[in-house]
Amino acid sequence: MNFDIGIIGGGQLGEMMCIEAHKLGYTVAVLDPNPKCSCSYVCDKLIVGEFDDLVKLNELGKCCNVLSYEFENVKGEILEELNDKYNIPQGICPLFDSQDRLREKMNATRYGLPTVRYFDCSSLLDLKNAISALGYPCIYKTRREGYDGHGQVVLHSVIDIDKVKPYLEHNLGIVEEKLEFDYECSIILIRSKENIISFPIGLNIHKDNILDITAVPNPYLSKEMEDRIIEASKEFMIQANYYGILTIEYFVKGDKFYFNEMAPRPHNSGHYTIEGCTTNQFKELDKFLLSLPLEKPKLISATCMKNILGRDLVNLEKLKNIKNSNYHDYQKDQVKPLRKLGHITYTNTTLDLLRTEFKKQNIGE
Ligand code: ADP
Ligand code: MG
Repeated sequence: MNFDIGIIGGGQLGEMMCIEAHKLGYTVAVLDPNPKCSCSYVCDKLIVGEFDDLVKLNELGKCCNVLSYEFENVKGEILEELNDKYNIPQGICPLFDSQDRLREKMNATRYGLPTVRYFDCSSLLDLKNAISALGYPCIYKTRREGYDGHGQVVLHSVIDIDKVKPYLEHNLGIVEEKLEFDYECSIILIRSKENIISFPIGLNIHKDNILDITAVPNPYLSKEMEDRIIEASKEFMIQANYYGILTIEYFVKGDKFYFNEMAPRPHNSGHYTIEGCTTNQFKELDKFLLSLPLEKPKLISATCMKNILGRDLVNLEKLKNIKNSNYHDYQKDQVKPLRKLGHITYTNTTLDLLRTEFKKQNIGE
């Protein structure tokens, strides 16, 4: 049997892609090492295998018309092999470029997006040189496989150098300026051969380096800044020759914005689009993969998305009882305090309103 879409990775992003594909009348096969992954409950076929298992990856490729990924760390050489044999509408460039923070930042600069100052760092000497140039505080990040703040050390003083040493033994890294930004935001774009669409830019609030809340419209974002970010992001995608979905995270300070990182897949900060917009990131990505025309999204009402991590479970009932809530449970088989287990989208709700509700219900932030 042939499936319409094949996804490498069976987490919640894949799960939401499956749900939207089904609504459009298409089928999805998924590869994931965990037989109880989020996608296992909704996809049409689950292939259980590691992300570097070429036999399993080929099994997926052969049974699907197009291939995509919701997981970012498929190895470069494996990607090339898959791209030669199967139809990967996004190609492999955006994934390859996003897998290494140094390449990613150099690429951003090359195609017109400003970044904070950063230095390559693969030795103690590099680290010390970077600190002399940047001063404290600064941030060390591993170049590969970081997420939700993993592989990062904020350096406040010379004492913190010891915390970086274990990373230096096994990893290449970068050191960057720690920006006292006004706020963080992200844009999600989807580019087909015909056009580029983008979703409204929300405000991203992180707690312990993990996204906690996205609020749209972003109360701090002026129309002028939004237009500049949209324009620069579209131009970046065109210049870099990327197609498909791309999320770009930015820091904003004063009248300047800085590229932080990018992801060529649906993004946590875009979950609000399911209920908050006239069309959502998962549906439009599926349509791109299926060569269907894209639809320009519009915000329906002020919307907030709150992530539910393991540590938020104590408040889950209270959070669900706040009005206009839409709870998405990723059906994860393991609970950990910092693991994303679901999210709640509150339509018709501004950040101020939501915070007032949290206070009323005694939900600490
Ligand atoms: P990841 O999301 O892959 O863990 P990020 O680079 O986005 O990695 O870092 C996670 C969070 O840490 C950011 O969303 C931001 O809140 C904070 N952070 C990262 N880099 C900087 C920086 N240069 N200056 C200030 N804060 C930063
Ligand atoms: Mg990030």
